[in-house]
Order: sequence, then C-alpha cells, then structure tokens
Amino acid sequence: MSLSPAAQRVLRAVAATLVPDAPADLGDRVAAKVATLPRPADRAELDVLLRLLDTRAVNLMLSGIPTPFTRMTAAQRERCLRGWATSRLPPRRKAFQALKRLTTVTHYTTPGVAKTVGYPGPLSPPPHTPKPIRPTLVTADTTLSCDVVVVGSGAGGGVVAGELTAAGKDVIVLEKGGYRNEADFTHQEGDALATMYDAGGLLATRDLGLVVLQGSTLGGGTVINYTTSLATPDAVRGEWARVHGLPHFETAEYTRALAAVAARLGVNTDHARPSASRRAAARCPRLLSGRFLRLLRHGVPPRREAIDLDHVSAGCRRLRRADRRRL
Ligand SMILES: Cc1cc2nc3c(=O)[nH]c(=O)nc-3n(C[C@H](O)[C@H](O)[C@H](O)COP(=O)(O)OP(=O)(O)OC[C@H]3O[C@@H](n4cnc5c(N)ncnc54)[C@H](O)[C@@H]3O)c2cc1C
Repeated sequence: MSLSPAAQRVLRAVAATLVPDAPADLGDRVAAKVATLPRPADRAELDVLLRLLDTRAVNLMLSGIPTPFTRMTAAQRERCLRGWATSRLPPRRKAFQALKRLTTVTHYTTPGVAKTVGYPGPLSPPPHTPKPIRPTLVTADTTLSCDVVVVGSGAGGGVVAGELTAAGKDVIVLEKGGYRNEADFTHQEGDALATMYDAGGLLATRDLGLVVLQGSTLGGGTVINYTTSLATPDAVRGEWARVHGLPHFETAEYTRALAAVAARLGVNTDHARPSASRRAAARCPRLLSGRFLRLLRHGVPPRREAIDLDHVSAGCRRLRRADRRRL
C-alpha cells in the first residue's frame, strides 16, 4: 500500500526538515520505502499521522502552532517535529522515530552521500565470483523427503545442518532470504540492507522502540556480521543454566565447544583496527570519546588477510574469498 498523495506531500516537508541539505526527491524515496514496510498497519498509521500533521487544529493543540505542517516556516517545522520526538503520546513519538529512521537511512545510504560523512565507499566493483551452492527455489506445493528440516541457514541453523550432515543425516535447510556472495557485495549500504537484511533493515518492535537489525540471506547474520568473536561470558552461562534451566551451558563440554568454534573460525586480535566509519564516529565527542576496545575477530590463519571492516556489514569479500567453509 502506498501513502496517500496528501501524506506524501507532508512527508516531503518532513524529509526536508530532518535533512535540510537533502536532494528534493528524498521525500519521494522515503515514501517508496514506507510502501515496503512489513506491517500494513504501520503504513496505514503513518498515513493517518502524516495527514494529521497537516491539520491546523491538531498542530495548534499539540504544538501551539496554528498552521498546517506544509505551510510552516523551517523553524516552526523543526519545533513541531521536536515536539513529536519528545511527546508524552506514544503514537506521536513512534511516528517521529519511524520518519526519522526512514529518512536518515534513505539519505545516508545514498551512494555519494555516505562519503560526505566520512564513509569510505566501495573498494571496487564486485568480482565475478561463481556461486557454488545450488539452492532449490520452491515456488509451488512440493514434496521433498529428508531426515531433518532445519529452518534458517544462519549461525545456528548452518552449524546444526553441517553437523547433522557430517553425522550422515539427509538434511533440508529452509531459507527465506536470497543467495548472495562476493559477486553481489557492491559495498553500498542501501543495496546490502535491501538484499541481505530482514525487512530491508527496517524490522522493528511493535512500538518502534528497537530496530531489529537481522541478516536474512543464505548464511543469515554470518554473511554480514562484524566478526567480533567473544566467548559466552561466565555470568551469562550461569544465568542460562540457573534462571533458564539449561545446565549444559556450565559444563566443560560447552567450554570445549566454544574453543572448537574459535579455533575453526581463527579468532584472533590481528584485525582490531577500527573501521573508517568507527573512526568517523569516534571524532564525535558525544558518541565514543575516541575509546576503542581491542576486539577478538574471526579471520583466517595463517594468511591473516585483513578483514575489510569498513564494508563487512555489507558483506566482506576478503573474508568470504579466504574461507570457503562459510556459505
Ligand atoms: C550487522 C550485524 C552485525 C553483527 N555483528 C556481530 C558480531 O560482530 N559478533 C557477533 O557475535 N554477532 C554479531 N551479530 C549477530 C549475529 O550475526 C547473530 O547473533 C547470529 O547470526 C544469530 O544466529 P541465528 O542462527 O540465530 O540467526 P541468523 O544468523 O540471523 O539466521 C536466521 C536465518 O533464518 C532465516 N529465517 C528466519 N525465519 C525463517 C523462516 N520462517 N523460514 C525460512 N528462513 C527463515 C533468516 O532469513 C536468516 O537467514 C551481528 C548481526 C548483525 C545484523
């Protein structure tokens, strides 16, 4: 469902207020994203709230500005939106968060714009890498037989499927995302969000308080995660064991399993150099105050080829080329 023309007009004004130096078509591109939101109810709610924002009486009552949003001055629009951001009414705060995220994600993932805020941009065009896996695309009712069905091919499902196959079981892995490899890693965040993240990176809790950034592609989150590799802390293992009744997590066997996974992934501290995006964030005193932890990351010994941390969340070509055991 697309936004109504009235809501789209307001959205253009909202986008121009949130990102004042954005190109004129930003509002239309945000409207196109709204049309792809996973929950129809969210789209309908945004349409209503945008139209309310252009109502004189509502603005007078809620913001003290007796003017439709599209006719306000830039300063009035900003004051009005700030009021929505901090409103005591949850639907207004929710609408503000939705509009702010959609607008800034759309703008700052536009090729070229990302560079202006210190992001490095693509290394080079993607390589022509063949795709060794031949997934079966199921488009109609189909009968397949196997010993085990694993739903999801991510960090959990992938390992389970691999271990079961090694143990001689006939396994089918169901994956709702598409199959992407190095040939698809354009290093454009917009492309990556659209093709390798659940709901294009826009999945959120119902109240929009939390964005659920989650990989959705063959390999799940392992294809786009930052490679930070920390062993489950003892306190967490204890909590899983005692609070959730899962004593296995406190056993020596689990400790050995963690060590086996770390060894297989080649976890090391050789790739701890912060990416350009993190360095850019560190220059903002309100964010990190320039502090970085030296993190364990998984790489591939003995070559220890540098992981491409600037682009890893859009798919790291080097990591994938170096380790064919990953999907
Ligand atoms: C950008 C990003 C960076 C991250 N960085 C790190 C990091 O540095 N270190 C770290 O430890 N963790 C990191 N994570 C988290 C880590 O990737 C996840 O915790 C991990 O992948 C979760 O494994 P999983 O098997 O539960 O799910 P996932 O790996 O997310 O896999 C689930 C898969 O199941 C598929 N699926 C879901 N529902 C269905 C269905 N009904 N039918 C068919 N398929 C379905 C999805 O499409 C997806 O591919 C990161 C995550 C993201 C998104």
